[in-house]
Amino acid sequence: MMRRRATLLLQAGVLQALVMPRQPPIKTALRAAPDMEDLTRRVFCSRELNMANIEAVGFDMDYTLAQYNEAFDMLAFEGAKDKLIDMGYPSEEIQKFKFDPLQHTRGLVIDKRRGNILKMDRHKYVRRAYHGTRELSRAERKAQYILDAGATPTFVGNDYVNVDSLFQLVDASLFAQLVDVLDEGGPSYAQAFRDVRHAVDLCHQDGVIKDQVAIEPSKYIIPDDNLVPMLTQYRLAGKKVFLLTNSLFDYTNVVMNFLVGKDVNDRAWVDLFDVVVVGAGKPAFLGDGRRDMLRVDAGTNMGTLHNFVGKPVSEVGGPAFLQREGKIFQSGTWKELHEMLEVGSGSEVLYVGDHMYGDMIRSKRSLGWRTTLIVPELEPELVLDAQLDLPLRHVVAEKEKECEEAELAVQELRLSLLSQGLDFLESDEREALEKAQEESREALKEARDALHRAYHPHWGPLFRSGNQASRFAKQVVDYSCIYTSRASNLLATSPSRTFRPPSDFMPHDDDERPPM
Ligand code: IMP
Ligand code: MG
Repeated sequence: MMRRRATLLLQAGVLQALVMPRQPPIKTALRAAPDMEDLTRRVFCSRELNMANIEAVGFDMDYTLAQYNEAFDMLAFEGAKDKLIDMGYPSEEIQKFKFDPLQHTRGLVIDKRRGNILKMDRHKYVRRAYHGTRELSRAERKAQYILDAGATPTFVGNDYVNVDSLFQLVDASLFAQLVDVLDEGGPSYAQAFRDVRHAVDLCHQDGVIKDQVAIEPSKYIIPDDNLVPMLTQYRLAGKKVFLLTNSLFDYTNVVMNFLVGKDVNDRAWVDLFDVVVVGAGKPAFLGDGRRDMLRVDAGTNMGTLHNFVGKPVSEVGGPAFLQREGKIFQSGTWKELHEMLEVGSGSEVLYVGDHMYGDMIRSKRSLGWRTTLIVPELEPELVLDAQLDLPLRHVVAEKEKECEEAELAVQELRLSLLSQGLDFLESDEREALEKAQEESREALKEARDALHRAYHPHWGPLFRSGNQASRFAKQVVDYSCIYTSRASNLLATSPSRTFRPPSDFMPHDDDERPPM
């Protein structure tokens, strides 16, 4: 369906450049050309979702309601560089580090021990790998990631870190550049990763990032006029709406006030929600451990904390309590949240978030929440899908066909000689056919590489890895019921709508014939 629309766009002459030299930076990514707006704003479904059965809709804040630009990443990047120098890393080298938003993408896996960054397909087969900022050759990649028995490693355990959120692009960039330095000697790559993590972690906590955002939010946060109407529509349709963020109250207040167009002393944004949980500490919030919930008094911009629970919410007055005592909380667990929202089971909650593990995987696996993943990277990807539909993709298809024909010619010769009792290896025709086969393979590889680079200079398309779905794409389909590029895209969908996924196809299904 999407492909059909893209083809229509092409026929209408809407698209100009067929091959873009570089993918636009993810976050400034295509303030989408108006003609592409419909395409990039669509909401996609991977698992049937009947909104009529949803009683409460919840939102994460950072990178879900609030999208940040590159200036925001630079705060963490530059702040962490200073901290790495303080830790004793060589100042001259570290000063030269540059943050390139195109260097890494979500969905990659960091191999801390080897100093590598990997892109895998849905079977966890490593299709691309970089050691620091140097791409590994096919032979190097296979030597490291194909086990002796031919299997691939499971990639679980302490050696690996998934790039699950856009915050982690800073970690990946710093680590890759540090690995290049450490190749000349120094601590282990794993130690360097720990230090990078610590440095970035500190920046999130000591004000290097958040103080600057508080001074001038418009410098870092991308405004979105459709957010307030999008949030309001669910209340109007009789659903509870909640905010569940790991940010603490002071920062949440800064960001939400900017998003609703108010001054930092305003509290109107709170009225958009039935319950607000700040400093939630996801994923622990979604687990069964004991964590006391605190009530936040929003009288000051810092928010004053009061002891709250100890007793179940129902015993202290249920939702009426919220009316009386306020509705902003910190920490706690999903149990109090469910009580406040008066939901009977997790399947009545739809949570909209951006973090693959903390927001999607844990909430779905542990609580059965229905999920919406926000994927800002979808916008440039959809545009490229459309723009590249004809030329590059068709070149690849053509080269695949030529390659298949060349292989068939060799096989036919082999079988024909065999049936005549002749030796294939001694045949005069063999050399020419094998040469043609080799050339066609090379041409196919070049065509595939050109397509790959058109999406991203290093990592290719986010959702594909060669002909396979990427590991990220598999996670999107497995853990999000619906996904879209911006939370405000939900405004265009009715709060009582049923989302239905496209039919699942098996490789042997005829493209034109949906399975019964
Ligand atoms: P959420 O996405 O709204 O749940 O909030 C994410 C919060 O986590 C933001 O306040 C971020 O600053 C914070 N955060 C992201 N990465 C780190 C980290 O490495 N250490 C500490 N806080 C972080
Ligand atoms: Mg988030």
